[in-house]
Amino acid sequence: SRRRFTVALRSDVSVTPTRILTNLKHECATPLPLLQQVAKAMSDDMRAGLGLGPGSELGLPMIPTYVENLPTGNEKGLFYALDLGGTNFRVLRVQLGGKDERVIATEFDQVSIPQDLMFATSQELFDFIASGLAKFASKEDGRFHISKGRKREIGFTFSFPVKQTSIDSGILIKWTKGFAVSGTAGRDVVACLNEAMERQRIDMRVSALVNDTVGTLAGAEYWDNDVVAAVILGTGTNACYVEQISAIPKLQGYASSSGKMIISTEWGAFSNSLPLTEFDREMDAASINPGEQIFEKTISGMYLGEIVRRVLLKMTEEGGLFGKSVPQELSTPFILGTPDLCTMQQDCSGDLHAVGSLLYDIAGVESNLSERKTVLEVCETIVKRGGSLAGAGIVGILEKMEEDQRGLIFGNGNRSVVAIDGGLYENYPQYRAYLQSSVKELLGIEKSKNVVIEHTKDGSGIGASLLAASNSIYKQNL
Ligand code: BGC
Ligand code: MG
Repeated sequence: SRRRFTVALRSDVSVTPTRILTNLKHECATPLPLLQQVAKAMSDDMRAGLGLGPGSELGLPMIPTYVENLPTGNEKGLFYALDLGGTNFRVLRVQLGGKDERVIATEFDQVSIPQDLMFATSQELFDFIASGLAKFASKEDGRFHISKGRKREIGFTFSFPVKQTSIDSGILIKWTKGFAVSGTAGRDVVACLNEAMERQRIDMRVSALVNDTVGTLAGAEYWDNDVVAAVILGTGTNACYVEQISAIPKLQGYASSSGKMIISTEWGAFSNSLPLTEFDREMDAASINPGEQIFEKTISGMYLGEIVRRVLLKMTEEGGLFGKSVPQELSTPFILGTPDLCTMQQDCSGDLHAVGSLLYDIAGVESNLSERKTVLEVCETIVKRGGSLAGAGIVGILEKMEEDQRGLIFGNGNRSVVAIDGGLYENYPQYRAYLQSSVKELLGIEKSKNVVIEHTKDGSGIGASLLAASNSIYKQNL
C-alpha cells in the first residue's frame, strides 16, 4: 500500500540531504535557453493579455491604468499620497514647486500593517488607513500650504490587482500577498476609502488610484525621462511599462490624450515554462490562493524563505539533516523569512557562525559546519532561481516593446531605464546580482549597452502624488 511505501522510503538510506540538494539544483537550474524561453513566454503572455476576446484570458491581466501622461515637472501644489503595500502602510505629503523648484518639501509616516488586519473586514482595513491619514494630516506644518478654496488631493497607491475604470476608480480583482480581507473583492477601493474618510470626517479627495509599479514609474520618470518600465520586487512582485494605445486591442476606440497608456502587467500571475519543484507545488497548494500568482510565489520576498524552509524540512524528515528529531519550529510555515536567508548568505566566517545561530534561534536546530553549508546551498539555489527569472521577465517586457516599435529600446545610442524598487531588490545583494546578470546574459553585449537597471527608492509615494497633481480636479496654474 501507499503507506508502506512511504515508510520504506523514509528509512531508505539513499535519501540524503545531498541527494535532495542535487535534485533541487537540477530542477531549479536556469540555463540560458530556459531563461530565453521564459522571456519569450512573458512577451507572448503580455501580448495575449492585451488582446480582445478568446485567448486573452490565457494571457497576463495587462491592466490599463488610465495613466496617459507621465509627470512633466510642472506639477505644483500640496499633494498627499497613501500607500498600502504588502508589509507597510505609508502616508506622505509633498509640496511640489514646478519646473525649477521641483520637490520643495516632503514628509512621511510609516507603520507596518498589523497581522490581524490582513484577515479583517474591508471596513476595518480602510478605517485603519483613514485614521492613519487623519493623524498624519493633523500634523501639517508651515512648509506645506494649499491654495485657497482647494481640497487636499490624494494619490492612492494600492498594491493589489485592480480593474481600473478610470484614473480615480477601480475594482479589486483579488487580494494577494497573504491578504484575506473580506468584503473588498468586487468593490471600488476608492469608494471604500472615501466612506472611511467620511467616517473620520476627513475632507480630502482621491485624484489618482495607482498601482505601486505605476507610482514608481511616475516617480522615476520625474527625474529621468528615459524610464520605460518599473518593477517592484518586494513582498510581492509586478511590472508596468508604457504601451502604445494602438497595441492594446482591448482598449479599441479609446481616445488617449497622448496615444499611450501605462499598463500594469500583473506579471505575478505569470506561470508559463517556469522551473518548479515539489516544494513550490506544495507551498502553492497550502497557500490562501492556490493556483494563483505562481511567478510571484517563485521570485518574490514573501515566499523565498518559505520555499527554503520546506526544502530543509524534507532534508530533516527524510534525510536526517540536523540529527534525528524534527523540531517543531521547522514545521511552522513562514517561520523562515527571506531576510533570514539574506542574513545567512552574508556570513563569510569560516565556521558559518551567523548561519548556525540563526538556525538555532529561528528553527531550533543545532548544526555542524557541513549542515550549515548545505543550508547555504539551498538558499543560494532558490535565490538564484528567483533573481534570474525576474531578470528574464524584465527582458521579456523590453523585447515586447522593441518588437512593436523597432529601435525604441535597443536602438542606437538609446538609453532605456528600468526602475526597480522593493525590499527584496534593495536589501538582498545576491538576488540583485543574479537579476542583473540574467538581464545581461539574455540581452548580450550590444543590447545591454542601452539598458540601465536602476534602483528607485520610495519613488512610488512621490509618483502617486505627482499623478494626483496631474489629474487634479483644479485647473493647474502652470
Ligand atoms: C500585486 C501587484 C503589486 C505587487 C507588488 C502583487 O502581489 O498583485 O498589484 O504591484 O504585488 O507590490
Ligand atoms: Mg510597497
